[in-house]
Amino acid sequence: MDRLKNKRALITGGTTGIGLETARQFLNEGARVAITGTNHATLHAVRHELGNDALIIASDAADIAAQKSLANAIEEAFGQLDILFVNAGITDMRPIEKWDEAAFDRSMGINFKGPFFLIQALLPVFASPASIVLNASINAHIGMANTSIYGASKAALLSLARTVSGELAGRRIRVNAISPGPIDTPLYGKLGLPETELKTVAASIQGQIPAGRFGRPVEIAKAVVFFASDESAFTIGSELVIDGGMSTL
Ligand code: NAP
Repeated sequence: MDRLKNKRALITGGTTGIGLETARQFLNEGARVAITGTNHATLHAVRHELGNDALIIASDAADIAAQKSLANAIEEAFGQLDILFVNAGITDMRPIEKWDEAAFDRSMGINFKGPFFLIQALLPVFASPASIVLNASINAHIGMANTSIYGASKAALLSLARTVSGELAGRRIRVNAISPGPIDTPLYGKLGLPETELKTVAASIQGQIPAGRFGRPVEIAKAVVFFASDESAFTIGSELVIDGGMSTL
């Protein structure tokens, strides 16, 4: 229960789903944890659940100036940062003809541009060693319809895990990525689909997963604990696909 003892961690988008479960696992393993989000209701709910155990910060992952403020807040609270889990993300699914520039910029801003500038803003704050884990997706690998921009934003994160590893290895800052398949989180309720259509879509996705079910947030969070801990000290610039076999079988 102390695999992350004395480590200081920041999780972006830690208010629900994979991020919240990872915050619980990090706390269980002895880390000090800060999490971000934008929705007042879920920020309030997570404050209620985690109480004084976690630092809860309202911060928009797409706002570039806010990444600098977030880095300053982390430095003020923790001094240095040992673990960054880049998790905040949105899934906007639409066919190519339905995209406009604003929607394109929103997805890329939250999923890739903001995270890039957060890592840059945190450079003076990272301890040595430190671990950065990027939450990508199997949509970076498969040709699922309506995921052109989502998949591209996640492919960009996978590339970043390798290139920034090359730049930061000298400082003993490791960068790795996880690529989850379908995980049972509030994400699907945010797709804007009516309840009946959502059930049909979920059943269709489930039929494509060799494991026969959606994954659970804890099944991703445990992998993030591994990447965040010193157990993975020799793992640099790598990706772990956790998808019940969906992209490979
Ligand atoms: P989720 O429950 O919707 O969680 C998304 C988190 O990101 C929430 O905490 C949300 O908080 C935060 N967020 C969204 N926009 C934000 C913004 N502009 N600024 C700061 N925080 C923001 O969904 P999830 O499934 O756990 O998703 C977490 C990550 O896993 C995402 O990057 C997603 O792409 C990835 N992923 C999920 C699946 C899946 O099947 N669930 C599969 C592969 C990858 P607020 O609402 O408060 O902003």
